This record gives sequence, structure tokens and C-alpha cells, in this order.
Amino acid sequence: METALITGGAGFIGSAVVRALRKAGWAVVVLDKLSYAGDRAHLDGTGAKLIVGDVCDSQVVAEAVRGVDAVVHMAAESHVARSLHSPELFLRTNVLGTRVVLDAAHKAGVPRFVHMSTDEVFGAAPPGVAFDTDAPHRPGNTYAASKSGAEALVHAWRHTHDYPACIVRCTNNFGPRQHTEKAIPNWIEAALKGGPIPVHGAGTARRDWLYVDDMARGIERVLDRWHPDAVWHFAGRQEYSNREMAKQVGALLGVDTLFFGPERQGQD
Ligand code: NAD
Repeated sequence: METALITGGAGFIGSAVVRALRKAGWAVVVLDKLSYAGDRAHLDGTGAKLIVGDVCDSQVVAEAVRGVDAVVHMAAESHVARSLHSPELFLRTNVLGTRVVLDAAHKAGVPRFVHMSTDEVFGAAPPGVAFDTDAPHRPGNTYAASKSGAEALVHAWRHTHDYPACIVRCTNNFGPRQHTEKAIPNWIEAALKGGPIPVHGAGTARRDWLYVDDMARGIERVLDRWHPDAVWHFAGRQEYSNREMAKQVGALLGVDTLFFGPERQGQD
């Protein structure tokens, strides 16, 4: 049985990836510092081994990567709004943490490295445009900038060390175990309290939505059909404005009032 190390595996997407890989027959080790966004209960019933530790701690990471067949690097600070107030934390975890994990995996000879990135590295897409995998990065906020910096390190490890690392970028995920700071759980929570459902600005920002289990199966495919150096894009091809999506959530829960707050800084 092959073993995968999933950093950030106690978070939202990570815990779905744990389930997808376990279902596909992998043994799974999770390295997660259990920040406010991580929860050991997210791993209940998966049989994954949890190492509680920080991806910036080179000693912990060196021990975690030893003997594994693949690393899926998902640990990150992930909330755009928080990146405006805690930029150093985002740069530390997302950029420096990625360097530590890449370095350890390379030195341990781990033959497959999947780096989880985001479509936000491109900034806002002009209407009707789907970005190519080699489109230029124009990050619009600190979170996106930190993810772009992390990608640059993956390229550097491929180029300098010929290290087999691929990059996965995806659109907005939704599904179980997502933190209530994120849009859909936040709207559900507001609707369950009777509303109104809060949206940023006029709610005209558009997003592509991807169900988290589909994303997780995608990661399993990336490992299974391994292409070193590949860049993969995952999208649900389900595009809605925030206003439309909030209305849909409200309709399902019997709430039809939206509250239009200030526009989010760094909104794409
Ligand atoms: P999340 O915030 O739910 O989970 C992040 C996990 O990383 C948590 O379990 C947290 O405890 C852990 N973590 C944070 N800092 C750490 C550190 N220093 N050391 C070890 N563990 C640490 O995030 P998510 O939504 O599951 O996102 C996972 C990955 O996918 C991230 O890399 C994110 O940038 C990327 N991504 C997410 C989305 C989305 O829609 N959620 C979209 C595109 C890309």
C-alpha cells in the first residue's frame, strides 16, 4: 500500500482529499498544526495518522516526509479577509512553509509532489475568459500573492533540482466541513438564524463553484496518472454571481432577504 502525506489534511479540502485517497487504497498521514481552520474531528473514521505540527518546522516536516510515496501540500492560511490583517502569517505559512515542505520532500526523495494552489493567483478574470495554465499571475490580495509566491518556489525546485512537482489550481470549493467564515457556510448560518444573508457590495462578483469531493477525486487522479511538472486546472463550470448564489441558499432555507454590506477589499 502506498502512503501519502497530506499537509493541511485536517482542513476543509484536505479532509476530503484524505477520504478520496483512503477510498482509492492509500495509507494517509496528515501533518496539520490545527489552526482555527483545522479540526482533528474532520479526520474521524478515516484511519489517517495525524501529526500535529507546523509546516514551517523543518524538523517535524523532515520526519513526516520520511518514507512516503507522495506529498500533497495543502496547508495554508486560506481566508482572503484575514490576509489583509495578518499578511506576515500568510507569507510565513504559505511561502516559507512551502519552501520547507519542498526542501524536505526533495531531500527525502519523495517521487510525487502535488502543490495545491488557486485560480486567485491570476487576479480577476475578464468576463467570459477561462485562464490558460500559463497565464500571467496578477494577484489581487495578500492571500493570492502568497499563493503565487509558493508556486514560484515549486517552479524553482523543478528547475534547480529537477524535482517532480506538479501544481493544481482550482476555483471556489464548497461542501461539508468548510469553516463558517467562508461564503456558503456563512450564508447558510445566517439563513438558519432567519436572515438576512450578508453579501459583499452589490454581490456582483462572479465565482465558479466546485464541489469539494469532486476536487478531492481530482487530486487522486493527479497522483494516479502522474505527470511530473504538470499544471492542472479544476473548475466546476458552475458560475454564479455572489448575489445569485446567496439567493439560491436563501431559497433552500426559506429566507429571501439579502443584506448588502461594503465591498470586500481585494475582491476579484
Ligand atoms: P482550510 O483553511 O480549511 O484548511 C487549511 C488547513 O491547513 C487547516 O487544517 C490548518 O490547520 C492547516 N494549517 C494552516 N497553517 C498551517 C501550518 N503552518 N502548518 C500546518 N498546518 C497548517 O483551507 P482549505 O479551504 O481546505 O484550502 C486548502 C488548500 O487549498 C489551501 O492551500 C488553499 O490555498 C487551497 N485552495 C482552496 C480553495 C477553496 O475554495 N477553499 C480554492 C483554491 C485553493
